[in-house]
This record gives sequence, structure tokens and C-alpha cells, in this order.
Amino acid sequence: MGLDQISYGLIMQEIERVDSGLRSLCSVQGSLVMYPIWKYGNEEQRMKWLPKLAAGKMIGCFGLTEPDHGSNPSGMVTTFQDKGDHYLLNGAKMWISNSPIADIAVVWAKAENTEGRIHGLVVERGMEGFTTPTTHGKLSLRASPTGELVFDNVKVPKANLLPNKSGLGAPLGCLDSARYGISWGTLGVAMECYDTALRYSKERIQFGKPIGQFQLTQKKLAEMITEITKAQLLTWRLGVLKNENRATTAQISMAKRNNVHLALTVAREARQILGGMGITNEYPIMRHMMNLESVVTYEGTHDIHLLITGHEVTGLAAFK
Ligand SMILES: Cc1cc2nc3c(=O)[nH]c(=O)nc-3n(C[C@H](O)[C@H](O)[C@H](O)COP(=O)(O)OP(=O)(O)OC[C@H]3O[C@@H](n4cnc5c(N)ncnc54)[C@H](O)[C@@H]3O)c2cc1C
Repeated sequence: MGLDQISYGLIMQEIERVDSGLRSLCSVQGSLVMYPIWKYGNEEQRMKWLPKLAAGKMIGCFGLTEPDHGSNPSGMVTTFQDKGDHYLLNGAKMWISNSPIADIAVVWAKAENTEGRIHGLVVERGMEGFTTPTTHGKLSLRASPTGELVFDNVKVPKANLLPNKSGLGAPLGCLDSARYGISWGTLGVAMECYDTALRYSKERIQFGKPIGQFQLTQKKLAEMITEITKAQLLTWRLGVLKNENRATTAQISMAKRNNVHLALTVAREARQILGGMGITNEYPIMRHMMNLESVVTYEGTHDIHLLITGHEVTGLAAFK
């Protein structure tokens, strides 16, 4: 649409104000599927997939995480072999948003003949040996289908390899863009929980007064709006840097970690203001709170982002 990064962020904010699952759909489609095809793909690949993905006529998913390799994707064991006129793909991915409904999957796998270098391949639904079992029993992000990607000797045409970037930096580049969207999105959740609690505090009468008139309730609300305002400034500044192509991975990491944590804290405080009503589905807070337990884990966990910040300031990597 030709919009800038702050406009993109504000759109993510308003979408996630509705539900983190909906924002996840947009992040995966835009940042994790369209972005790598646009950035690392060739013109033929762009023309084949991008118009349909942009119009929502085709849904994509992003396969990086594996059952035994979550926080450390470099240990992945999904591999492909060069078989002359095609690649043969074997392995499995887990926790993949949209996998049960996706038409295509951008899959990150190691090439057996280039000493295990990671490449992106577009795997299409219907390819023989490719299945997408649904993950059941999720109590979080329930509006977003999650599943596996299983590759059992899948013959992937050579034209489906993204040629313009390889190595772990390729998938991590997509994650920067998605994490930036999450930083804005979770502000939408915090604002929705705050607004709900504020309205409720003026309507709910206890001891003959609206509960919003008690100092303890005001403390909660005042602290929430202060923290939301600080995080909005952090994220806006990140957007300015992103518009200038100057935002770093470590800065994005700091904002993602801070804002998800802020949204969780606001959601918990807001839920308390609603008392018993806070745990029902008549209000959105509990649903947001449960969703945030996924958001605090995916796209790098809370602790991994702390270690990225630690690495940035000390120059010493603590996660290895
Ligand atoms: C709903 C949902 C949707 C998802 N969607 C996608 C998707 O679309 N595509 C995709 O590829 N992935 C997706 N993921 C996967 C997600 O990115 C991973 O769950 C995440 O990276 C963590 O990996 P893990 O679950 O294996 O946890 P683990 O890596 O096993 O971590 C478990 C705990 O150990 C801690 N830990 C790990 N290593 C260290 C360390 N070095 N130092 C200190 N603590 C450490 C972590 O912080 C965490 O608390 C999704 C996950 C969820 C829950």
C-alpha cells in the first residue's frame, strides 16, 4: 500500500486490540511469508505467489521451529538433498501458525550438500509426502490454527528454492519484521484491557461508590496508562528508526520483550479491577491474557530476548 512503518505498526495495534490470533495471521502472512518471497525470492517466484497472498486468496505459513529445536533453530534437522531435477525434503516442523489452513509453507531446511547451510523453500499443499496435522488442546491463541509440517521424502521443484539469501540470517531477518509488528500489536491489547477496566471502574459500585474512586484502583489505572504511554514512545521511536532503515535486531528485541510483558502486566491488573467478572468471556481481558502467554513465548521467548539485550550491551553471548 506504500505506507510507512509506523502506519504498519498502528494497523497491527488495532488488529491485535481485537485478538492476538488475528494479528498473528497478519504477521505470518505479511512478515514471515510475503517478506521472504519478496526479499529472498526471484521475480518469477514473486509474480507466482505475492499477488494471491496480498489479496488473501492464498494463505501461507512459516516453518522454522522443530520439535527438538525451538529457541535454538540453528540445530534444526530438517534437510533437503539435491536430486538433479528436484530437491528431496525430509523432517518436521512444530508449532506452526496457520499450517492446517495454509496453501503454501516457507520452510527453512539445511542443504545436505552445502555443509548444512540453511535455505528457504516454498512447499505447496498437495505435494506428495507433505502433511499438516493440527495441534489440539491449545488454551491460548485459540483463534489462530496451529499445527505441524511433516515432510516425508517430499519432491520440491528446484524453482521453489528462495535463491537470494541463505544462512540463519535469512529466517531471522523475517523475524525482525514480525517482532516489530508484535511490539505495536501488544500495545493494542494493553489499551483494550486498560479501556475495559477504566469503563468498569466507573460503573461498578461497591461501598456506595464507583470502585474507580478508591485510591488503590486509581493507582492501578494510573500506572497502566503511564507504562502504556512509555511503551508507545519506545515503539514510535523504533518506527522512526525503521523508516530510516536504522532499527537494529537488538532494539526490536528490546521492544518486543518490553511490550509483551507490559501487556501481560496490564491485563492481569485490569482483570483484578473487574473482580469475578474478569474471568468470564463477557469481557475480553482473560482471552487477551491467555493469548499473551503464546506471544511471550513465540518469536523468541521473554528470556531469550533478555539475553539478546545482554549480548548487545556486554558483547558476550550468554545463550550458548
Ligand atoms: C501458538 C504458537 C505459535 C507459533 N507459531 C510459530 C510459527 O508460525 N512458526 C515457527 O517457526 N514457530 C512458531 N512457534 C514456535 C515458537 O517460536 C517457539 O515455541 C519458541 O521459539 C520457543 O521454543 P520452544 O517452545 O521449543 O521452547 P524451548 O526453546 O524449549 O524453551 C523452553 C524454555 O527454556 C528457555 N531457554 C531456552 N534456551 C535458553 C537459554 N539459552 N538460556 C536461558 N533460557 C533458555 C526458554 O526461554 C523457555 O523459557 C509458535 C509457538 C506457539 C506457542
